[in-house]
Amino acid sequence: MSRFWSPVVGTLSPYVPGEQPKLQNLIKLNTNEHPYGPSPKVLDAIRAACDDTLKLYPDPSSDSLRQTIAKTMGVQPGQVFVGNGSDEVLAHVFLALLKHERPLRFPDITYSFYPVYCGLYGIEYETVPLTADFRIDVEDYLPRADGQAGAIIFPNPNAPTGRALSLAEVERIVAGNPGAVVVVDEAYVDFGGESAVGLVARYDNLLVVQTLSKSRSLAGLRVGFAVGSAELIDGLDRVKNSFNSYPIDRLASAGAVAALEDTEYFEKTRQAVIETRSRMTAGLESLGFEVLPSAANFVFARHPSKDASGLAAALRERSIIVRHFRHVRIEQFLRITVGTNEQVDVLLKGLAEVLQA
Ligand code: PMP
Repeated sequence: MSRFWSPVVGTLSPYVPGEQPKLQNLIKLNTNEHPYGPSPKVLDAIRAACDDTLKLYPDPSSDSLRQTIAKTMGVQPGQVFVGNGSDEVLAHVFLALLKHERPLRFPDITYSFYPVYCGLYGIEYETVPLTADFRIDVEDYLPRADGQAGAIIFPNPNAPTGRALSLAEVERIVAGNPGAVVVVDEAYVDFGGESAVGLVARYDNLLVVQTLSKSRSLAGLRVGFAVGSAELIDGLDRVKNSFNSYPIDRLASAGAVAALEDTEYFEKTRQAVIETRSRMTAGLESLGFEVLPSAANFVFARHPSKDASGLAAALRERSIIVRHFRHVRIEQFLRITVGTNEQVDVLLKGLAEVLQA
C-alpha cells in the first residue's frame, strides 16, 4: 500500500492475464486465440486505411462499425455499443449497469475478470456454485421467494469450462428476471453455442456482449461490442462519454468492418476449429483425460491420476503452453485452446510421452 494510492487501489486483486511469451516457435494454446490468422480482406482493409486521414480523430460514435454490427446481428445501430475489446465493453457494463442495491450474481467458476471489476467499481457480488458436473444451473438464477433479484452476468459458453446453456435456458433466466439486467458474455459463442442476440428485441433487460478476438481471429485489434435495448445502450454511452473516449481507432474500425463482412472466411475457419476440437477431445480421451463437453475454442480436461500443474510444466518444457488455474475446485484441470491440426498432433504426442514418463 502506497500513501499516494487511493484507498481502493490497495484492496484490488488485479486480473492475472495468460502468458504472452516473448519466445518464438512455441505452440501457444493458453489464451484462446484463433489458430488461423484474420481474413486476408481484413489485412487489405487495414492497409487501405493507412493514409493521411490518420491525422484526424476517429468517429467518436463509430457509426460505420456500429452499422455493420447492427446489420450482422439483425438489430438497429442504436442497439449497439462498441469498445476496445469486450474487456473494455465489460468495464463500461459493470460501471453503467451492474451496481445496484442487490448484489450482482455470477458463477463461482467463470471469467476471472468479473470480480476484478467489482473490486474496482465497488460492486457487491455473490458467486453461485456450478453443479458437480460444472454446469450453470438455471434454477440458481431465478428470483428468490422475496421476488427481489440483483443483476446477473455469465459467459455462454462459460469460461474456463467451455460448457454452454441452451438458448431456452438463457431465455428462462432473462424472462425470469424482468426487473434486473442480465448480461450474457458470448466471447466464445461462435464455436458451437446458441447466441441470445435474437432475444434482445423481446427483453429490454438483456445485454449480449461479443468480441472479434476469438472467432474473427482479431485479438490484437481490440474490438468488442454489446447488443441490447436502446435503454441499456444509452446507459453505456453515458459512461463512455464521461471518459471522452474514442472507442475504436481508424485502423481497427476498418479491419473490424471487413472481418464482419467476410462471412465465408468466418464460416470456414470456425468450422475448422470445431472439427479440430472433436479430434482433440477424442485424442485426450484416449490418453485417459476426462474432457468436459465444450462449445468453445478450448477444452477443459483433467487426468484422473496426474497433477495438472505438473502436466502444464512438462508441456512447457516441450514448448507447448496451456493454461492451469490455481482455483481450488478446478486445480486438476488444464484449459487447452484448440490449435491447428498439426499443433494438436504435437500436443497429443507430447502428452503421451509425459504420461508414460
Ligand atoms: N469474456 C470472456 C469470457 C473471455 O474469456 C475473454 C477473453 N479473455 C473476454 C471476455 C475478453 O476478450 P477481449 O477483450 O479480447 O474481447
